[in-house]
Amino acid sequence: MLILHSRIVIPLDSAAIVDGAVAIDGPLIVGCGPYHEILSRFGPANEIDLTDCVLLPGLVNAHTHLELSYLKGEVPYRNNFIQWVDLLRELRSRTLPSQLSDGTFERIINNACQESVQGGVTTVGDISYEHRAWHYLSSLPLRKTCFAEVFGMTGDLDSPGEYLRRCIARTRTDELLRLGLSPHAPYSAGSGVYGLSAELAAENSSDDSPISLTTHLAETTEERVFLLEGAGPRLDYLKRINKWDGSFICPGQSPVNYFLSLDLADQPFLLAHVNYITDDELTALARTEHSVVFCPRSHHFFGRPAHSFRSMLEAGVNVCLGTDSLASNDSLSILDEMRFLHKQYPDFPVETLLRMGTINGAAALGWQDKVGRLAGGMEADLAAVPLTGDHSDPLTDIFESNTQPRLTIVRGKIVHHIT
Ligand SMILES: [Zn+2]
Repeated sequence: MLILHSRIVIPLDSAAIVDGAVAIDGPLIVGCGPYHEILSRFGPANEIDLTDCVLLPGLVNAHTHLELSYLKGEVPYRNNFIQWVDLLRELRSRTLPSQLSDGTFERIINNACQESVQGGVTTVGDISYEHRAWHYLSSLPLRKTCFAEVFGMTGDLDSPGEYLRRCIARTRTDELLRLGLSPHAPYSAGSGVYGLSAELAAENSSDDSPISLTTHLAETTEERVFLLEGAGPRLDYLKRINKWDGSFICPGQSPVNYFLSLDLADQPFLLAHVNYITDDELTALARTEHSVVFCPRSHHFFGRPAHSFRSMLEAGVNVCLGTDSLASNDSLSILDEMRFLHKQYPDFPVETLLRMGTINGAAALGWQDKVGRLAGGMEADLAAVPLTGDHSDPLTDIFESNTQPRLTIVRGKIVHHIT
């Protein structure tokens, strides 16, 4: 039995507890309440003194590409997304994840995992180009949905199908690892690939091990032009890299309308970015179970227009947070994302911001029955962040400071602790 004694506990589904505590037995939270109550119910036990910290549910990074961490600061953006992707591809063609030695790849994933837990992140939605990362992540003490990324703009469904079936057959899931499938984006994966991914996810999911789905959507204006007009730099690019055989029929729709028209409503997707959306599209999206992951600092890196996350939340869309990869960001910290948003939108409710970084991400990845809030019966994923001010408004305090998490626990196990 372990008792975490904290200045303030923020369970999320109930009021903040001043001088609170969380009792952990094995992988589970068994109690969350005032310190003296927890101590009399569960003590004596090992105790960790966090009386200068706020204790939060572990943070969820719902969209990242950990394997690209070695490209941090290497891919400058010069106002042209396709040029940026070209540069990224060029760098990757020299060091494709598949070409990196096992040792190098493993080191990249290890470091990224370490950086994540040091930032209070306990769950990641990680997308891997050739589905190589899951193998290295499987031994690491981080909760993860490992998405196998799939492409295919030609009429051929055999090779994406074969690849997806292989990913499903080979991935060993466990208490901390689940599989996801990720058709890359509407301009790189045809409607058949989306349908097949959703079908295979449904067929191969079980209660213990559901298969999640994610995709990049409405990320750039080029994507919009490509889907609306069947032309522009996206098409030129596909032709240039030999990924175009003319079988994709231009839908003449915006990315969001096109995605909704694929009729995947039975299989909720986690939609990354959704930077461009009209009011009508937003209303239609809110009628579905799809979630949106917003990556604030990556969004800023690419100079995108203001994101509609507030209208999405108001309309009832589940919006969570991601860092995207270190090729367009400088840390894998969701606390840094929340701090960045708080600075940009000081009037945005800090509780909602915390929800975006915790329970909303857990729900988007299908982990909400296990983690995302602090309560008896939930699995013990937590982060403790030192307070600096007078503690009357602990979330504003931590969002306006730059203190780093002192303690991170994943499924009852201490994975980061500064004593
Ligand atoms: Zn991404």
